[in-house]
Amino acid sequence: MKIAGLQKVTLLDYPDKVACIIFTQGCPFACEYCHNAEIIDLDTPGTVSEEELFAYLDLRAKILDGIVISGGEPLSQKDLKEFIQSIKKKYPNLLVKLDTTGLNSKLLQELIDLRLIDYVAMDLKNSLTKYELTLRHGVKLEEIKKSIEILLAAPIEVEFRTTIVKGLHNEEDLRSILELVGTKRPYYLQNFKDSESVPNHKLQSFTNVELQTFMNKYSKQYPNLKIRA
Ligand code: SF4
Repeated sequence: MKIAGLQKVTLLDYPDKVACIIFTQGCPFACEYCHNAEIIDLDTPGTVSEEELFAYLDLRAKILDGIVISGGEPLSQKDLKEFIQSIKKKYPNLLVKLDTTGLNSKLLQELIDLRLIDYVAMDLKNSLTKYELTLRHGVKLEEIKKSIEILLAAPIEVEFRTTIVKGLHNEEDLRSILELVGTKRPYYLQNFKDSESVPNHKLQSFTNVELQTFMNKYSKQYPNLKIRA
């Protein structure tokens, strides 16, 4: 596994759990609002070895509830399955959460079937018609649709989420995503926030009034719709 970084503790990234996060190196996409743009190159080697990670977990696994595998795009890692298998074997108490775009539905299904992941947060980048525009590099829409189907039926915790950017997303896009995910799983809107690592600093977030207007219109029909601060 190519690991670009380890955050030793987070109280925010695995709902209601104390976890650490590992950031995998590499993502085939190039979202203009990416907060981890410095780790998306697929050819760059990892900077944290599995030995270093396991040395940390040997010390801290007892006080952690789980581990979040984020990126980059974890499903791009060739040995993701074997990596999680070794985590589960060595630290059976640790829950595993996967943050993903869902770009490899077969691997996602396999991880679920093997009970290697306990929680998946899938980023829905835009309405299906605007996926290409948002990710900016080739995306196989069939994979995205299949991953959504898999997660809607999966016997594990799942959330869907969208980072929303003014100009990239509009009400019609969000309504279309809501229709896609339905009401069964939590769906979070995350308003874009600029930061040093974001490639395009000209992007804009929505105002609170705009978000609230959208919520007022759709939250009754979709009680699973929430805004994540
Ligand atoms: S899919 Fe995620 S990691 Fe990849 S470029 Fe987009 S925001 Fe960044």
